[in-house]
Amino acid sequence: ASERLYLGMDFGTSGARKKEDSLDWALSWKTTLFSLLEDVPVHLRPLVASISLDGTSATTLIIDSKTGEPLARPYLYNESCPDALPLVKSIAPINHTVCSGSSTLCKLVSWWNNDDSDKKSTMLLHQADWLLWLLHGQLGVSDYNNALKVGYDPEADSYPDWLLSQPYAQLLPMVKAPGTSIGHLKGDIRTQFAGFSEDCIVCTGTTDSIAAFLAARATKPGKAVTSLGSTLAIKLLSTTRIEDARYGVYSHRLDDKWLVGGASNTGGAVLKENFSDEQLEKLSEHINPMEASPLDYYPLKSVGERFPVANPKMEPRLHPRPESDVEYLHGILESIARIEAKAYILLKDLGATQVDEVFTAGGGAKNDKWTKIRERVLGLPVSRATQTEAAYGAALLALKGCQ
Ligand code: ADP
Repeated sequence: ASERLYLGMDFGTSGARKKEDSLDWALSWKTTLFSLLEDVPVHLRPLVASISLDGTSATTLIIDSKTGEPLARPYLYNESCPDALPLVKSIAPINHTVCSGSSTLCKLVSWWNNDDSDKKSTMLLHQADWLLWLLHGQLGVSDYNNALKVGYDPEADSYPDWLLSQPYAQLLPMVKAPGTSIGHLKGDIRTQFAGFSEDCIVCTGTTDSIAAFLAARATKPGKAVTSLGSTLAIKLLSTTRIEDARYGVYSHRLDDKWLVGGASNTGGAVLKENFSDEQLEKLSEHINPMEASPLDYYPLKSVGERFPVANPKMEPRLHPRPESDVEYLHGILESIARIEAKAYILLKDLGATQVDEVFTAGGGAKNDKWTKIRERVLGLPVSRATQTEAAYGAALLALKGCQ
């Protein structure tokens, strides 16, 4: 049987996105996309059955709907358009995800109200949509993960009436499930990168953090991924959709399930302030993970927490500091584990499926002692995710699009 390959690419913050401050981001993404295709060995190209990719959530392009060319520089994921917020709040339901200055909808409204060019043939696309368009050539397609922050309702599978009644609704792209086959790889791309098959299909993508979750292949309700990077982020697959703006908790749709997420300000950043990676490894060796640390900290880099405790004035708590660095580290790791446990309990209390297994991603995943501490504190099996690369998650979407 001939082997089939599925190509996934990551344009998230830690992926292909280059850290330059060029105004021509769109061009640099395109250049990166093409250099990634160029990197696919010529003898493997005929085996690539499908392609998908992920981009940063809320990275927004306004394009010419005839040519696909960007009409303004892209709005980056973390850029805020506070000028549009009062207007967006006046049309959207209270506490809707679009009610944040960096939402895609605020970016759209800000452009709509400030740009005085002719707006007749314009269209909004997310970073992933636009890059995928370069490959399949069908302008105006997005996925319901990327489209959540522009206001798409993934449950009703449509844009809500309050959005459709706005004059800029004409710019909104059509929305499909992530990993939906859209079309064949364009002829000019196959000419430029010789060897790709004319049967190769291009599928809708997702956001970078969802792609990273997909990589762990936690496909059953109750499976979760804790990301222990600079901050602590948790994502849980649930049969129910939950939202709570107080805690910044919201759900993305994944076919017939919901991906519930929340992010705490605790995490590795505090470890990094106190210890080098080498120290973390050495000191951890001396921790007995079966023993509970009595130290009760709330490690934060700065004032304020949202999840699992909503308190913008919460002070970091890292005292008393014992003389022994091993005990200190044990106390911090144990305290972060307690916050993680509290986070999963909160998600359950808010109505999500109860967690039954946790996979770990991020810098903290390599610490086996911490994993043991977390197993004890969470009372659940905890292991390192085999795959954590968002590009792998995007490849799984490409595979899905072939089935
Ligand atoms: P991000 O992408 O959010 O910056 P990473 O996933 O790269 O973060 O993880 C980096 C974090 O992992 C740092 O804050 C560092 O303190 C932490 N880290 C590194 N090594 C260890 C270790 N052995 N045990 C626990 N945490 C660690």
